[in-house]
This record gives sequence, C-alpha cells and structure tokens, in this order.
Amino acid sequence: MIKFQNVNKKYDNGYEALKDINLTIEQGEYVAVIGLSGAGKSTLIRCINRMHDISSGSLMVNDVEVSTLKGKEVRKLRRGIGMIFQSFNLVNRISSLKNVLVSFVPDMSMWRKILGLYTKQQKIEALEALDRMNILDKAFIRVDQLSGGQQQRVALARTLAQKPSIILADEPVASLDPITAKQVMTDFQRINEELNMTIIINIHHVDLALEYATRVVGIRSGEIVYDGPASEVTEQI
Ligand code: ADP
Ligand code: ADP
Repeated sequence: MIKFQNVNKKYDNGYEALKDINLTIEQGEYVAVIGLSGAGKSTLIRCINRMHDISSGSLMVNDVEVSTLKGKEVRKLRRGIGMIFQSFNLVNRISSLKNVLVSFVPDMSMWRKILGLYTKQQKIEALEALDRMNILDKAFIRVDQLSGGQQQRVALARTLAQKPSIILADEPVASLDPITAKQVMTDFQRINEELNMTIIINIHHVDLALEYATRVVGIRSGEIVYDGPASEVTEQI
C-alpha cells in the first residue's frame, strides 16, 4: 500500500509542486495520474521511490515511512519499485537479454557483470521476463535496433526481472505512436492483472488513461482535483 498524508513538496527555489496531497493506493491497483504539463505528476510519482524528497507530511510505502529512510534503506525501497521512463533508459549497444540481466545489480559485483558471469538461474529469469513481454525473439538483438515499442517492452521486462511490487511509469508512452502506445498500455494492464503489481502511470493522454487504467488521479497546480474510477471522469482536469 502507498499512503500520502498531507504531503507537501517544495523545490529549493521555493516552488510548491505538491500541496496537501492525501492519497491511498492499494496493492494491485492500476492508477493513471493525469493533468497538464507542470501540474506535478512527475513530482508526485518520483516521491514514492525517493527520487524526490517530500517537504512535509507522511508517505508510507508498504508500511515503511519513506521520508526518513537512510542510504541503504533507500536502495532497498528502490529494489521493490520498478521505474519506467519515457526514454526507456536502456543501454544501447547491448542485447535485450543483457539489458534485462543488468537489473540483477544488487546480487552481483561489477566485475562479475563486466565478465558476464551471470548464473543460469539469472539467465532463465531474464529470458522468462522477455517471454512474458512477448519479446523473447529479440533476446539477442541489440536494443538500438528495435522499434520504440519493442524497446519499451524490453524496459518492462527488465523491471519485471527485478520482481517489484510496484511499477512507476513516468510518461511511458509519450514518445510512441498512438497504436504502439495502446499496445504498451495493454502490456501494463496484463502485468497488473497477471502479477497483481501496483502500476502508477503518469500520462498526459487523457483518452489512454480513461481506456486502460482503473483509477484516475487528476492533478492541477500541485493539488488533487479528481480521484475516482476512470469511467466517471467528466470534468476537465
Ligand atoms: P508534470 O510532471 O505534471 O509535468 P512536474 O512534476 O515535472 O510536472 O513539475 C511540477 C512543477 O514543479 C512545474 O512547475 C515544474 O517547473 C516545477 N519543478 C519541477 N522540478 C523542479 C525543480 N527541480 N526545481 C524547481 N521547480 C521544479
Ligand atoms: P520531464 O518532464 O521529462 O520529467 P522536465 O523538462 O520537466 O522533464 O525536467 C527536467 C529536469 O529539470 C528535472 O530534473 C526537473 O526536476 C528539473 N526542472 C523542471 N522544472 C524546473 C524548474 N522550474 N526549475 C528547476 N528545475 C526544474
């Protein structure tokens, strides 16, 4: 469960990006955070894995108060939270499989990774993740030779291999064409349903949010102005 209680976020320049946020997300929900550019969507989801610090209030993730965590505990928090970006953030010149294997970082020293000394079990898990994302046939292809949609699938496979309970996706379909964007939204839906992962997507395509997410949180100028089922969104957010 993720629970924001009276959360405020002020940037160093004094800008109040989040104002008195109260929001509870249960395990297994598929939530779309919508709002205009600059509304605070990205700030909101990046507080959950401590990419940003909150300024006041309480933020609990799976019964842990996130704002007081120290270095090692922050790394542990982040291992349980997958992050997906608009720009995929893959390592370009290596294969899909190697990109997924990179996610086994916590278990492995850097020199073992450089030498490619992955265990059989790690390779099996990486291939399973690619298979789940229907991209197993590209396992040995360099990711910079894949289409945008295929790259986002590899990024999702990499996140799945990490076995998180939560996936945060910051504008995951913003750089994709409309048809590929729908496919990626369907992939999130499938992961959500099959693995009961909590999915939180920050998205500015309202129509996609309404079609695929089960719950919509609307943000305007750092405040929540709508929170409810996607089917009941009527006003402009
Ligand atoms: P969104 O994701 O909805 O586009 P953001 O969360 O990125 O919005 O940003 C919310 C507001 O906070 C914007 O007005 C943005 O300019 C401001 N902002 C974001 N990052 C910083 C920062 N590091 N310092 C100051 N202001 C910031
Ligand atoms: P995106 O929307 O792709 O997340 P942005 O262009 O909003 O990226 O922001 C890029 C970086 O600049 C982020 O680290 C953000 O925190 C920072 N940033 C955004 N707006 C401001 C601002 N008004 N002042 C300072 N930093 C900002």
